[in-house]
Amino acid sequence: MAHRELLARHRSVMPKWLALYYEQPIEIASAQGRRVTDREGRTYLDFFAGILTNAIGYDVAEISDAVRSQVDTGVLHSSTLYLIKSQVELAEKIAKLSAIPDAKVFFTNSGTEANETALMLATQHRRSEQVLALRNSYHGRAFATVAITGIRGWSASALSPIKVSWVHGGYRYRSPFRDLSDADYIKACVADLREIIETTTAGDVACMIVEPIQGVGGFATPPDGLFGEFKKVLDEYGILLVSDEVQTGWGRTGEHFWGIQAHDVVPDAITFAKGLGNGLAIGGVVARPDLMDCLRANSISTFGGNPLVTAGALASLNYLLEHDLQANAAKLGSRLLDGLRAVAAAHPVVGDVRGKGLMIALEFVGPDGAPNPAAAAALLEETRERGLLVGKGGLYGNVIRLAPPMTLTRAETEEALEILTQSIEAVAKEVQQQ
Ligand code: PMP
Repeated sequence: MAHRELLARHRSVMPKWLALYYEQPIEIASAQGRRVTDREGRTYLDFFAGILTNAIGYDVAEISDAVRSQVDTGVLHSSTLYLIKSQVELAEKIAKLSAIPDAKVFFTNSGTEANETALMLATQHRRSEQVLALRNSYHGRAFATVAITGIRGWSASALSPIKVSWVHGGYRYRSPFRDLSDADYIKACVADLREIIETTTAGDVACMIVEPIQGVGGFATPPDGLFGEFKKVLDEYGILLVSDEVQTGWGRTGEHFWGIQAHDVVPDAITFAKGLGNGLAIGGVVARPDLMDCLRANSISTFGGNPLVTAGALASLNYLLEHDLQANAAKLGSRLLDGLRAVAAAHPVVGDVRGKGLMIALEFVGPDGAPNPAAAAALLEETRERGLLVGKGGLYGNVIRLAPPMTLTRAETEEALEILTQSIEAVAKEVQQQ
């Protein structure tokens, strides 16, 4: 079969550490709205597209038209050494949306590069290679970002120019402070932060980097206000705060445009990627002007901010603002969360349902509460059989992640809930039989 042959060729030519989903991986041949169709003609509702960059959905005319108009000029790429109008317009919009006073923007091609840039700025600005990161974090796959990634399965190298200290706060469900009230949890994490600074650093730390909701870490969602309290401690030491919004940006969390806004704090820099391009490769950093301008050597990114992707990203940003997709994410996200909590209450194999907006996770556990990656893997296959694509994640690979495009409809929400309910029931039955 053509599909089986392609899989064999993939396995022989690509690295073995390149993750592939499903026992029989899918080859997507076409897509529209929130649905993708594979090479065999099976159509799936895509509840992982939002993570995999399609914040808005597939085949959006406004975005395709903007990209096509740029293609029609003949200029697929002109060096960023020249003026590019869509790049400047996009930067102005993002600077304004960041709420950082007089913010400046630098574009990259990926989230990894965005975080590498933010780390370079912070370490240069503070003349320190020390960084605070959250346990259970994911920030990228280059030398500095892999060092601040607190998930063993995703940090393939320990060689790094960065000295990292690890702080509690992101992943509450398996933390020693899990059973505390929100207020006491925040107090415990703040005390931990202070102790970490005092005991494992020289005090002159460059920055702390946080994901407002940890993406790869399984949509681990800290209580609102935590990072605002962290910032008060960081300010005492002059430590900068970087918010990695690669997964939480652009209104996905429903309540706010950036995830960090749930914490009543304006960070010194925000990094972004994925959803902005709605499928096009773009990332970047928006930062305080003194922080952005602190580098003393010239730097360019050959493709970062090129006219093709900035035309598409500008159309994508305009679309999500004009259609208030953030409000849609809040509305349909709370329906999903309520529906899934009701199903989980009847099935102890689901230990936790968490998230915000259209960023929702189910954590699968064994009878003793231990991580149950086999149940999560089974759910991935069960949902696929029923025509729904979801994601996997978490430190132990036992978390199912839902992040559909933010143009999701009410009917699609109900359809997904029905499939998830049936799939959870099937997995619960399998677990009982073992
Ligand atoms: N930060 C976060 C929070 C991410 O989720 C990711 C990607 N999963 C990255 C950074 C790295 O982005 P990229 O894969 O575009 O390099």
